[in-house]
Amino acid sequence: MSVETIQPWLAHRPRRGATLVDTIVLHATPCEDFDSAIAQLKGLGLSYHYIIDKMGIPHKCVPYSAVAFHAGNSFGPHEAARGTSREQDIHSNFVELTSVNEYSIGISLVNNNDGVDPFPKAQMDACIWMIKELKSSLTSLKYITTHYWVSPGRCTDPQGLDIVKIVTQTGLEAWMPN
Ligand SMILES: [Zn+2]
Repeated sequence: MSVETIQPWLAHRPRRGATLVDTIVLHATPCEDFDSAIAQLKGLGLSYHYIIDKMGIPHKCVPYSAVAFHAGNSFGPHEAARGTSREQDIHSNFVELTSVNEYSIGISLVNNNDGVDPFPKAQMDACIWMIKELKSSLTSLKYITTHYWVSPGRCTDPQGLDIVKIVTQTGLEAWMPN
């Protein structure tokens, strides 16, 4: 399987010095196709490291050495380990400073995120393959989570994705809020 690389990269910034990148956050991007996803993300200043289209082609959009803007206000394994407050305001934003983007890789699958739109086998296979590839080059990777687990009440993606299958086949640990 091969990865398509887009140029220029989507929005990103350098990672801070000693950040251990140990988490993959899975998302869904509702859009017509890959090109409209890119146009949409550019307009919003958002980004993922990888977008996997419905045909099962992974598109590299930001190098993993940089931070991509995919999880926003979110609470993940580092916040849990630090004892960050889980308090959320009325918009489901965490009140204390959180930074899941800092230590994660964002992978999004093109999907309507309605729980009905299927994730074709080629897309699932590509997602699993991509994660295994990342795991072999980035040995610090430990957790896999979803946008709905790190941003509960605010985000629902990727709805309907078989996380158990992905966890089982990649050997990463599922991270979800207690
Ligand atoms: Zn998302």
